[in-house]
Amino acid sequence: MITVAHDALEDLVTEMIGRAGSNPEEARQVAHNLVEANLLGHDSHGVGLTAQYMRHARTGTLTVNGHVSLVADNGVYLLLDGNMAYGQVTGGEAMQLGLDRARTAGAAIVGLRNTHHLGRIGAWGEICAREGFISIHFVNVIGHKPIVAPHGGAEARYSTNPYCTAVPATDKNPMFVLDMATSRVAFGKARVAYNAGKEMIEGALIDHHGLPTRNAAVMFEEPRGALTSFGQHKGYGLALLGEILGAALLGGPVTDPVHEGKDTICNNMLTVIIDPKGFGADIPFASSIDAMLGYVTSARPGEGVDKVRVPGEPERETGADRRANGVPVDPGTWALLVEAGVEAGMDRHDFDGIAV
Ligand code: NAD
Repeated sequence: MITVAHDALEDLVTEMIGRAGSNPEEARQVAHNLVEANLLGHDSHGVGLTAQYMRHARTGTLTVNGHVSLVADNGVYLLLDGNMAYGQVTGGEAMQLGLDRARTAGAAIVGLRNTHHLGRIGAWGEICAREGFISIHFVNVIGHKPIVAPHGGAEARYSTNPYCTAVPATDKNPMFVLDMATSRVAFGKARVAYNAGKEMIEGALIDHHGLPTRNAAVMFEEPRGALTSFGQHKGYGLALLGEILGAALLGGPVTDPVHEGKDTICNNMLTVIIDPKGFGADIPFASSIDAMLGYVTSARPGEGVDKVRVPGEPERETGADRRANGVPVDPGTWALLVEAGVEAGMDRHDFDGIAV
């Protein structure tokens, strides 16, 4: 493993994204979002995506220096088009417009369609939670070959369609962030196993016959297999809601054969923003959460587990560690970063100089 201080890594990726055509502000926003994903332990959504983003910028399947445009404004409803601009930009713009609306209308329902990759969806929930609002996100992912099999199916038909809900912090608890892919594991975890020649956990993959396998090569070599949904039919149902609520409802593209042939990542996202005081300021929402979480996490830990955690807690723990001790980057990902940087005219020493 190579270890890099997070601020040096952010500067490096800012330079790379800038060389792919972004203005300095956009390059910084993208790099900050990717490095934050690494900091929080989600390497599948971190700097390993830089080379892919740069390729999309070069081939025009990503609009550099783009922004959202307003498609419809109807009471609490706001519909935005992301114009295939960086999700790190459009996601932030959508949340700000949604929060402005929620402050005046009490709630907001924001559709963001046709945006390039939104990265870690929790980043958008956390913006709302920091401002005191609950947010619920349904998302679909298209623009490349499908990688997840429907429950009961023997081949892939859709992608890792994430779901997220974030709730503001209370007096006793930090913000609650449930942020997850609807596949058993994120695609990036299969890549890590494949690069390292390691077997995947049981139940995460099927081969091209539809049979269970632990060999991650089925995701990268022909004949292709697929990821499975988490919780069998339940994760599958939630993933379909990503298609129905996150895309179809907004007039955005759903998973279909037409979009499979493209080399990009397109997200469509429905965000519902709720004011916790919407049902009445006298409802003891925060203290109910504190009482409930206190009780639930008091459960005796199972064998090999140090304590019962709450969603969002593993990310905070990993974040504290990586901020202090640096971000680990696997050699395969690092080599891809160096290659993409050198191809964009950077010096190999820019990379060697910050790697430990
Ligand atoms: P994960 O499985 O690591 O975590 C999922 C959730 O479970 C998190 O909220 C986490 O805090 C919680 N959790 C983990 N361990 C826990 C424990 N021991 N106790 C209690 N809660 C626990 O995440 P994932 O499914 O691999 O997703 C990774 C990231 O990928 C997410 O940020 C997601 O938004 C992102 N993603 C994005 C896209 C996209 O197209 N933009 C697609 C798929 C996934």
